Amino acid sequence: MSDDYRFETLALRSGIHRSQFNEHSEAMYLTSSFVFDNAAQAAARFAEKEAGFIYSRFTNPTVSALQERLAALEDADACIATASGMAAILACAMSLLSSGDHVVASHSIFGSTVQLFGGILKRFGVETTFVSPTDIDAWQRASTPRTKLYFLETPSNPLTEISDIAALAELAHRKGALLAVDNCFCTPALQRPLAFGADIVIHSATKYLDGQGRVLGGAVLGSRDFIQGSVYPFLRTAGPTLSAFNAWVILKGLETLRIRLDAHAANALALARWLEKQPGIERVYYPGLASHPQHALAMRQQRNGGGIVSFSVTGGRESAWRIVDATRMLSITANLGDAKSTITHPASTTHGRISPEARAAAGIGEGLLRIGVGLEAVEDIQSDLARGMQGGR
Ligand SMILES: *Cc1c(COP(=O)(O)O)cnc(C)c1O
Repeated sequence: MSDDYRFETLALRSGIHRSQFNEHSEAMYLTSSFVFDNAAQAAARFAEKEAGFIYSRFTNPTVSALQERLAALEDADACIATASGMAAILACAMSLLSSGDHVVASHSIFGSTVQLFGGILKRFGVETTFVSPTDIDAWQRASTPRTKLYFLETPSNPLTEISDIAALAELAHRKGALLAVDNCFCTPALQRPLAFGADIVIHSATKYLDGQGRVLGGAVLGSRDFIQGSVYPFLRTAGPTLSAFNAWVILKGLETLRIRLDAHAANALALARWLEKQPGIERVYYPGLASHPQHALAMRQQRNGGGIVSFSVTGGRESAWRIVDATRMLSITANLGDAKSTITHPASTTHGRISPEARAAAGIGEGLLRIGVGLEAVEDIQSDLARGMQGGR
């Protein structure tokens, strides 16, 4: 595939290796294993002396096609696809960390990621310090000689705080650590963390990469050394593998990634601007708004503000739940990155398992709502929200 092709072209045409039938659309290889011509070839494949497919826990042509395409889009050397976003984060951690190592992570990351680092990995002797995603001094202070990994999401969920990827990459490297960015909210269509100095990119392909809420998937991307030398052996041995079927669905999702993300963002910006003018709204959180405290940084790192808008209403949980319950179209679900708009009350769902104090410290108030802005007509999204608002229809 030519390196000169632009993003939109790579999204459609990279990773294609046609079979002898010359199919136009990518083939789906639903097979658990592959046969060898003879005993010598089997031995050579297993000894990694001959390239080729062996067994779908670690090699499958449809999964490889997805890995190649995602690597092209992130401009990464290599990619390993995994069964889910959490499997990708686990694979990254297991490939990099040993007992006694230390991690600095943003405290505004996906809830299961907090549980993974703060709970499960802690049982295996990996300590994690959680800090503010925007306070670079806090990352510096938290770093120790044992710090191996910095981990963050930007924009953060649900408050859309922006981390300065270049500044944190520089600090991580000075401390002898690697920076991993969970690029789930932006996808490579809007932000390429490796270009700002990050070492590892993580994806939950379940969200925008599929884009239509159909399958789970994930990916880890980075240098060939890290991916082939560390993540691949972990995948081969431990098996958090993406199915060929899911890989095929996500491959098809990637074909329209840029136009979908641009459309999500256009709707999100229109919705955020409208929300700012409605009565009973305390604050709107959207990086594409000039009122966002890190608007300039966001616009340096991202192509646009993305598809997630959060806002807080006066009157706390009661007002927030009234808006949720008055909707007739928006999907009441914790998922995001779907073509259909979703509405979530973080304090009682995605962030319900953390203590009220920790929630308050993280700025997740009872009046906060998060919209995963979909591709419906924005006027219809606005009317659906207006129904439960102060003075609503
Ligand atoms: C959903 C999500 C994950 C986890 O992905 P799954 O595919 O559900 O395992 C990780 N990070 C972020 C930012 C997410 O939104």
